[in-house]
Amino acid sequence: MVLVQFKKCTKCQGDLLSDGDEWRCLQCGRYYYPPNTQLHPEPGCYGENSEVGNVNVRIEGHRRALVSWWERNKKIIACIDRGMSNKDIAKEVRRSPDTISKIRVELVENRASASE
Ligand SMILES: [Zn+2]
Repeated sequence: MVLVQFKKCTKCQGDLLSDGDEWRCLQCGRYYYPPNTQLHPEPGCYGENSEVGNVNVRIEGHRRALVSWWERNKKIIACIDRGMSNKDIAKEVRRSPDTISKIRVELVENRASASE
């Protein structure tokens, strides 16, 4: 069974793919084994058998997660784009300023990955 861990590579923050006992980074090719117990993912997330199928499932799952992220945070993103401060946005959407600053970082990352 092939499993995927998003952004777990300690070298490049890439996604790790597991097949049996070893983990391999999809981005830089680094191997990790024996598996770090902290790297064990939730079981049963990905069930495809072929490697190509798994990559497609991985990308599809990632894309869906991104879509729901944009949907969930669109009001906050609109506020960020209007140049509001974390404190003002936090008041507006009734979230903590820490949450807003985290979403601000994710926004930069997600915009970067959307333009890939
Ligand atoms: Zn890597």
